[in-house]
This record gives sequence, structure tokens and C-alpha cells, in this order.
Amino acid sequence: YYRCSWSSDSSDSVISSESGNTYYRVVLIGEHGVGKSTLASIFAEVPDSLDSEMLSENTYERTLMVDGESATLILLDMWENKSQDNWMYDHCMQVGDAYLIVYSITDRASFEKASELRIQLRRARQTEDIPIILVGNKSDLVRCREVSISEGRACAVVFDCKFIETSAAVQHNVKELFEGIVRQVRLRRDSKEK
Ligand code: GDP
Ligand code: MG
Repeated sequence: YYRCSWSSDSSDSVISSESGNTYYRVVLIGEHGVGKSTLASIFAEVPDSLDSEMLSENTYERTLMVDGESATLILLDMWENKSQDNWMYDHCMQVGDAYLIVYSITDRASFEKASELRIQLRRARQTEDIPIILVGNKSDLVRCREVSISEGRACAVVFDCKFIETSAAVQHNVKELFEGIVRQVRLRRDSKEK
């Protein structure tokens, strides 16, 4: 089933260890200031994780139990480092098994940027059906909201990805976000096995 298979370029990127644990590389992308690094630091510190490690600056590893099965996420927060660097941009676009496209619900420009990034990602990984979650962060800032939930949801429908609103500040839906991305990768893995 072509659309749900990984391209040959990335077929070796989902590594299964002997214990049956699986590693997924998840890349955070989005406008500056939307909360990517704050989400990453929560991910790195959640106390009930089986195992947590900071591999290097901007790279975090954590093993989660999701639906009775463990999965290790390697979270990459290096999007800010790309600046004028084409290599880093290409690297971010190619290296992910899954993506979190983050915007701030208080910043419409970051929402528009998210759409742009979705298009760029589709272009960079044309033949692949990559798991993506559109993340509307800063949901605690209700009085500064510029992007409604329904707009976020509608955008995710158009872009054929999942959607969640989070607050890294009050840690709302952050655990659900990371569990969600594990489930999205598994859905594709399972349909690939058929
Ligand atoms: P990045 O540039 O995308 O990595 O964004 P940062 O994680 O550095 O966050 C930018 C600013 O937004 C910081 O001052 C954070 O404390 C703040 N911030 C991040 N997430 C939230 C959130 O969910 N709610 C609120 N109120 N502030 C947040
Ligand atoms: Mg950052």
C-alpha cells in the first residue's frame, strides 16, 4: 500500500530494538516564540516516564507507555537554529518520522506560518504519509486569543493532519500531545503491515 509506506530514504529511521521498543524521531517546527522549547522541556521532565534523557542540546529522549506498548520518542527542537542555514532546514524537513507544527493561538501570523510549513513539508516529503499534529499552543491566554479552535480544526482538516490545543504554561494537553503522536505513527505502521 504505497501511500502509507515509508520511503526508502526513511525506512531505516524507525528502529525496532530487540525488546520490541520502537524509536520515533519527532521534530518541532513553527514560528519563533510559539512555545516549542517550552513544550520540549516539559516532555523531557514528565515524571512518570519510564526513562528520560537529554541526548544533546535541543534533543530529548523519553520512553512512554501508550496503549500498553512502550515507545521512545526522540524530540528534536532545532528549528530555531536553522536561521540562514539551508542545511539545517533540509535536515529538519528530512529527519522526522513525525512532526509537530506549532503555532500560538495568540498570534495569527504564527498560524499562517503553520500552513506554510505544512505545504513545505508536503513538498519535501512528497511520497510519504507523515504523521503531523497541528498544535495550537498558549491556550491559557484566553483573553489574547487571535485564532479560534474551529479555525485550527478546519486548518487541520484541509491539511489532513491531527489537531490539538495545548498550554505549555499550565501543562494542559501536553501529555496527550505526545501520546497522540505515538498513536499517529503506529496507525501508519499498522496499515503498512497489512
Ligand atoms: P519557541 O521560540 O517556539 O521555542 O518558544 P519558547 O518555548 O521559547 O516560548 C516563548 C515564550 O512563550 C516564553 O516566554 C514562554 O514562557 C512562553 N510560553 C510558551 N508556552 C506558553 C503557554 O502555553 N502559555 C503561555 N502563557 N506562555 C507560553
Ligand atoms: Mg525555542
